Amino acid sequence: MVAEAAYYYCRDCRYCRQGFYNLCIRKKSLGYWFDGAFEAYTIAEEANVHLLPDEIDFVSGAMLEPLACCTHAVYDCCHIEAGDVVLVSGPGAIGLIAAQIAKAEGAEVVITGTAADKERLEKARELGIHHAVDIQEEDIKEFIDALTDGYGADVVLECSGSEPGIQSGLELIKKRGYYCQIGLTGKPITFDIEQICYKEIHFSGSMASTYLNWEKGIKLVRQGLVRLSPLLTHRMKLEEWEKAFQMFRRKEGIKLFLDTVQN
Ligand SMILES: [Zn+2]
Repeated sequence: MVAEAAYYYCRDCRYCRQGFYNLCIRKKSLGYWFDGAFEAYTIAEEANVHLLPDEIDFVSGAMLEPLACCTHAVYDCCHIEAGDVVLVSGPGAIGLIAAQIAKAEGAEVVITGTAADKERLEKARELGIHHAVDIQEEDIKEFIDALTDGYGADVVLECSGSEPGIQSGLELIKKRGYYCQIGLTGKPITFDIEQICYKEIHFSGSMASTYLNWEKGIKLVRQGLVRLSPLLTHRMKLEEWEKAFQMFRRKEGIKLFLDTVQN
């Protein structure tokens, strides 16, 4: 079993009634409003629990939440067609998952990072992503132009949440392309909003996930179209949480696990 992070939503507001309880005006999530994420046991509502098929191990099961956020971004907020060139900016866990979904949809996928992302770009290659590009080594504009006859990427999935990542995403996308902002910036940033007008970009954000996004994620993992366990790089005891958070801030590893159950 795996439980969603959405622990409370009202089922009564307009968003809940539309099925978008990720946007519920009264939503409360585990780990923010409720304690319990860093415990061996917690209580979950039956409606937000998903059965893990036998083929999906607990390590992958624990990463279904970021996968569900990515299926929401790709299927509910964006539009990918087979043969599209999809640019994924930022090769962290979210970027590596989003890139795999885009590939599963039949796109040619380019994932970008910097020298600091060496290990993550290598992981992207291991996962079979078509192109993993260090933008400090290669001219990404030339790279995308060569793949698209100079028209630009059909779709941009921005997962870095960085100002340069967002600016270059808007520069590299084609006219009438689909741009989804998945990464959070954590602060106000500056970008050229006129690009959205001039190019008639379909610009969307994405926020969390809903029940069917989880079910879609489970199908993708079950069919081997998305692999989650290779994203696990460090497994630590819960008592080492401070060290794990420091490592995360230093961008060490990809997914760090805190084991709540003592072995
Ligand atoms: Zn609601």
